Amino acid sequence: MSRTVLILGGGIAGLTAALDLAANGHSVTVIEQADHVGGRLSQAPPPLLLEAHYATWALLKTLGKDLHTRRLRHTPLEFLQTTGARIQFLHLPLPSPLNTLLGTTLFQGLSMRDRWHLLSFLERTWEQDPPLPNDLDARVADEWLASIGQSEQARHGVWNSLARLLLGAALPQVSAGLFMRTLRRCFLTGARATKLLIPPHGLGAFLITPLRTQLDRLGVRVHLNTTATQLQFVQDRVAHVELADRTRLTADWYISALPHHRLTPLLPERVVTHYAYFQQLSRLSESSLVIVRLHLAQPIEQTQLVLLERNRFHWMIRHPDEERHEQATVLWAVAVDEPDLLPQSKNDLVQLTLSDMAHAFPGGSLPRLIEADIVRLPSAILATKPSTQQCRPLSNSPFTNFLVAGAWTDTGWPANLESAILSGQRCAALVPPGAP
Ligand SMILES: Cc1cc2nc3c(=O)[nH]c(=O)nc-3n(C[C@H](O)[C@H](O)[C@H](O)COP(=O)(O)OP(=O)(O)OC[C@H]3O[C@@H](n4cnc5c(N)ncnc54)[C@H](O)[C@@H]3O)c2cc1C
Repeated sequence: MSRTVLILGGGIAGLTAALDLAANGHSVTVIEQADHVGGRLSQAPPPLLLEAHYATWALLKTLGKDLHTRRLRHTPLEFLQTTGARIQFLHLPLPSPLNTLLGTTLFQGLSMRDRWHLLSFLERTWEQDPPLPNDLDARVADEWLASIGQSEQARHGVWNSLARLLLGAALPQVSAGLFMRTLRRCFLTGARATKLLIPPHGLGAFLITPLRTQLDRLGVRVHLNTTATQLQFVQDRVAHVELADRTRLTADWYISALPHHRLTPLLPERVVTHYAYFQQLSRLSESSLVIVRLHLAQPIEQTQLVLLERNRFHWMIRHPDEERHEQATVLWAVAVDEPDLLPQSKNDLVQLTLSDMAHAFPGGSLPRLIEADIVRLPSAILATKPSTQQCRPLSNSPFTNFLVAGAWTDTGWPANLESAILSGQRCAALVPPGAP
């Protein structure tokens, strides 16, 4: 017998849970406060897809959007160092760990001394002698890298840029455990894992729209412009969800796929104070994002990604503007955790972007600006500090019919697309088949 499942939030986590549940024959309803699904990703630049994001690739394949078949070129990871040197991390088509060992050995972004320290650490890690320290989750990545012999130049010339790109915050703000696990998955698990693909269009066309189409096919009801305002609990279960118009919705199972700061206000105070599971959510915080998108009258041939260390923006992606015409380029400039950029005017942000762009992509005259858009998100990505890492909840809440999904929950990944997808799939797997 199928269950009725009510999912709060139509971001990627909620939609992925809905897909798996409906495919398993459950009767699923999604409520979403915005007038569209997709959540935060609707405002995102083209996503950075690492081959190590296995759940993302599997979902794309299920939706008939296997990007592997499209012969898109892999994008090299390029660092612009403080000295002005431009260094590429070489992807070597060798089995692991040879690809990483040789890639590290040849990586000019680190000094010989830093490479030697890193290689000896990697060698010991593979041999598990000594095992990784138990307190890694409680330590700061910057301090831990220093303890394994990484110089200040390496930490601030390479590792900091990677921390911002992969974890959404600078090295002194991220957990050493999560940083190490993310690096290991992305760079140490096989020759393919290191490869980075940036599909030229946003996620709308190849993930959100096909997901929505598939949900419609499976009979999932999606209510847009519908805001949940309260969760009502009776004993150890959720009894109903109240909406802004006072309607009450009931189901056998409830899944919250909301950001953590949107879930807490829906809970009765006694629930928040009584259960550590919910209490600890108040210790989670988020980093800001400022994204500038420029359309430029300048042709380029292939997508490029440059990580910037000493500029106002932390990475830039530029790709041919296929939607408009071949002679144009779209440039995305992203700054993470730089709250002082949030109040700056559009004109100032565009000027800063053009100035950083001249460093990231030197040569030639400044192209004509066709159009510019700015996205300012004060709360964009879960901050992955050591203290917050242990507060990320697992899917099972203390209430028997209530599960929690979202990129910010504890999936083993930073709060990224892969994490959102995994969290939705895990919640769906916890709803049992059979009678409630
Ligand atoms: C700008 C940006 C760019 C990113 N780029 C990348 C990238 O390139 N690669 C990558 O891996 N990750 C990226 N991420 C991170 C990752 O994509 C997001 O963290 C992930 O999409 C979050 O999905 P989610 O479903 O957990 O949450 P959300 O997308 O936040 O979805 C939650 C949904 O709940 C809805 N909601 C909120 N309150 C209520 C309520 N009371 N009632 C009903 N609905 C409600 C919201 O409207 C929203 O649609 C990016 C994030 C941002 C913000």
